[in-house]
Amino acid sequence: MAKIPQFKTVSQLRKAVSAYRAAGEKVTLVPTMGALHDGHLALVKYARKKASRVVVSIFVNPKQFAPHEDFSSYPRTLEADLAKLHSVGADGAYTPPPDEMYGVDFSSEIHIGGPAIGLESITRPHFFAGVATVVCKLLNQAQADYAVFGEKDYQQLLVVRQMVRDLDIPTQILGAPIVREKDGLALSSRNVYLSAEERKRAVGLYKALQASAELIVAAKPLEEALAVGRRVLELHDMQLDYLVAADANTLKTAVSSAVRPLRLLGAAKLGRVRLIDNLAVK
Ligand code: AMP
Repeated sequence: MAKIPQFKTVSQLRKAVSAYRAAGEKVTLVPTMGALHDGHLALVKYARKKASRVVVSIFVNPKQFAPHEDFSSYPRTLEADLAKLHSVGADGAYTPPPDEMYGVDFSSEIHIGGPAIGLESITRPHFFAGVATVVCKLLNQAQADYAVFGEKDYQQLLVVRQMVRDLDIPTQILGAPIVREKDGLALSSRNVYLSAEERKRAVGLYKALQASAELIVAAKPLEEALAVGRRVLELHDMQLDYLVAADANTLKTAVSSAVRPLRLLGAAKLGRVRLIDNLAVK
């Protein structure tokens, strides 16, 4: 099976990136946890528009999972991932083993305020410290010109932007649009956990966001619009975690349908699977 160069250590990664740079090329890093799908591959294509070299990291970060979450069962499909990356023309995969990322005496953690407060942090209080710590390390390790993150994890994208601004990290952060299935479900590595019956209902989250967005665009009161979205979730037998409207730049809760730029963000459970999604209100 055709493969792309694989870097397993920071020094191998840096050697490759400095060689690209020495040749006058720009480099984009695409951080992922693997189990790659078309959403990830779209990030690679997006990355290519900015820089002639694209390196994708694949690392299932233990620090962003709580003990009761799915770290050990998270899908790991490295061989297939490498073949997919080859097919979209990525230049290399950075696949550090856990002890390359976190030495035995590792003892630092990055806490971000601002957009990290609320939403995902309410049910996953450990989450953004884990994400910020690993993303900071990945950005320092790769020293790329750009890094691409998907709007699928909208709060995460804003948290990473906040961190890069606050800590003067010299990599420019780019946000790429959400890739969806035909029916609207946002692609996610966790969708493989859905049974066939749950998969049909899973589109309820996107439909809920759309229903609320339409009413907001029609200038209906915000609470009314969100109540309709929550009802759509109920109709799909999805268990609401949150469905909110927020300022798209700060994630502060919006107070009226007139706020722009406005983003709707939702999280809901289907059995044991928790899905998140979001939508810009035009
Ligand atoms: P993950 O492997 O889930 O940590 O995701 C790695 C990157 O891919 C993150 O920046 C995600 O936001 C992005 N991503 C995941 N799913 C999608 C999608 N459906 N559309 C766009 N980006 C995505």
